[in-house]
Amino acid sequence: MVIRFFLGLSAFASSLVLFSCGEEEPSSLPAVRATAPIPEQTVGQFSGQRAYDHIVKLTSFGPRPPASEGYAKSLSYLESTLKDLGWATRRSTFQTLTPKGRISFTNLLARHARDGNEPDWDQSPPYLIGGHLDSKFFPDLNFTGVNDSGSSTGVMLELARVLSAHPEAAANLELVFFDGEEAFGEKIIFERGAKEGLYGSINFAQQLRKRQTRPTLGIVLDLVGDPKVPLLVGGDSHPNAVAQARAATKVLGLGGSVSFPDASILDDHIPLQVYANLPVLHLIGDFQEMPYWHTAGDTLDNITPQALENAGKLTLQVLHQMTQ
Ligand SMILES: [Zn+2]
Repeated sequence: MVIRFFLGLSAFASSLVLFSCGEEEPSSLPAVRATAPIPEQTVGQFSGQRAYDHIVKLTSFGPRPPASEGYAKSLSYLESTLKDLGWATRRSTFQTLTPKGRISFTNLLARHARDGNEPDWDQSPPYLIGGHLDSKFFPDLNFTGVNDSGSSTGVMLELARVLSAHPEAAANLELVFFDGEEAFGEKIIFERGAKEGLYGSINFAQQLRKRQTRPTLGIVLDLVGDPKVPLLVGGDSHPNAVAQARAATKVLGLGGSVSFPDASILDDHIPLQVYANLPVLHLIGDFQEMPYWHTAGDTLDNITPQALENAGKLTLQVLHQMTQ
């Protein structure tokens, strides 16, 4: 695989090799298989407009960097929205030393709670869908991170709505809204002995290792709302998942808006691979083509309901195919 470094999110230098030398032994948890298919009809039930409406709401809370008022309001919004849709949520809070001092982070985990039953959080459902909720910390900007990554958050909330109408299918999923994906400094660093950013996914992956089972696949979404740029199936994705994404792209007629680069892009899927040995599918908009990326210009006018819908439908189509 050709590893092409991207500006800003770069610095991922073969972490799988770096980390295989003793710092973290690979996890050998058994993978859980699907118990019920994700019905094909769910694909057509995904509404990009509803996903968009969630993002408008998130934006109204202001910037949401870790441990901020905006982040707290966003968490409450997610919890009440998910609860109304029949999902149980769990806050996973931890503290880590960062360049900004000791910061408290909170990941939000969600499982569909059939008949109101509390899920068994020590077990994993077969599929994990993750994306980061935090917006990058810019002390002097009103940065609300609409595409980065309000977009994935809105898509995940809409996925929760669609699947809540199919409880047996929904039982196959865990949603994780990661905190602290963004670095406080300029860029994310993930090297042995030097890390910045990915705080939430690192902590989650370490928790995942302590469970009795792991998912079959983790799907990580990021920057999925811009119709002007291709949605990339990142080069770290598992070959089987890439094949499924290619087939799904064809079925949905999305060939013109999805690309399959041989590029490793540093994002929340990397800790899942490195610490929990989890096969992943990484879906990310091509941020090299987003002049507004990590600027105050990351606003609602760059995203559309249609682009969000494409990402949501692609996710559901892949899940449908994989659970046949
Ligand atoms: Zn970012």
